[in-house]
Amino acid sequence: MNIVDKYLRHIDRLRISVTELCNLRCVYCRPESGLELSQHTDILTYEEILTLVQHAVKLGIKSFRLTGGEPLYRRGIEYLLKKLGEIQGIEDLAITTNGICLKKYVKIMKEVGLYRLNISLDSLDPAKFERITRGGNLQDVLDGIEEVLNLGFKNTKINVVAMKGVNDDEFEEFARLTLERDVEVRFIEYMAMNKESLVSEDKFIPMSDIIEIIAKNNELIALPKPKLGSGAAKIYKIKGAMGKLGFVSAVSQPFCNSCNRLRLTSDGKIRSCLLSGGEVDLKAILRNNPTEEKLTEAFIRAANLKPPVHSGKGHVIMHQVGG
Ligand code: SAM
Repeated sequence: MNIVDKYLRHIDRLRISVTELCNLRCVYCRPESGLELSQHTDILTYEEILTLVQHAVKLGIKSFRLTGGEPLYRRGIEYLLKKLGEIQGIEDLAITTNGICLKKYVKIMKEVGLYRLNISLDSLDPAKFERITRGGNLQDVLDGIEEVLNLGFKNTKINVVAMKGVNDDEFEEFARLTLERDVEVRFIEYMAMNKESLVSEDKFIPMSDIIEIIAKNNELIALPKPKLGSGAAKIYKIKGAMGKLGFVSAVSQPFCNSCNRLRLTSDGKIRSCLLSGGEVDLKAILRNNPTEEKLTEAFIRAANLKPPVHSGKGHVIMHQVGG
């Protein structure tokens, strides 16, 4: 079976937020005072997540990404990392992490074999990194990235949220990391998340400006999209570089017509879209005599809630939905 939504998008990806908790408090994602979090019992157990993934595979969803909160910060995450690797039919398993605990888990992911990593990193300056993340240690992330490269992971990405006046002076330095490393440095347009927006909208910088800044001193070559994990990014490389550059323009040029994903929140809802659209409560089904039919119907209902184009208004709870 395959899920095709009412706008004929073939839904074959699921992002799974495994926890709302995070060991960082990035200024654009979480308030300094912390967040009101769900009760532990409201968060899906690992067994529940595994049940849903097994079911999703039967519905033609072959590509899964763990996110959060910080996925590697959930207690016992190694269990989920390993168990996902045992599910037949998964073709692509990925994780988005802030990299703080990466060194501890990277070997497990290598053993499982399927994992691709996206590592968030918004500054290469230790003091600025600490400010943006409200207390993070840059070296932990850099050590994690080195370990990932040493172990020979393929298709590794470094995600940089582009913010005017915050890290635009580092775009070129970030881009030049690809000269001698087999990574994709991926610039993500900053989304002002809600009305109490943690970083004001004037920090927004469109993809076209980011490319212009990098292209000033570097010759950029446009590349075709790779099959795996290309998602919504436009891909380039600096001439002669080992790695690539990706640009994600969710705000300036939404790519909703090719959006093929659903999102599972840590408290068990399937959200149809990061920014708008509705959701379906899977946990209620899972915890009340679930049947294959009920689960299938819930996935299809969520797919059909996907809007043709997102509203552009980021009233999203990033810690629950995951980026
Ligand atoms: N903790 C993990 C991490 O840091 O990668 C996973 C969760 S985080 C919410 C996932 C992604 O969302 C990160 O790449 C993060 O930079 C991005 N993100 C969070 N808030 C954002 C915002 N306001 N605009 C753009 N990207 C954002």
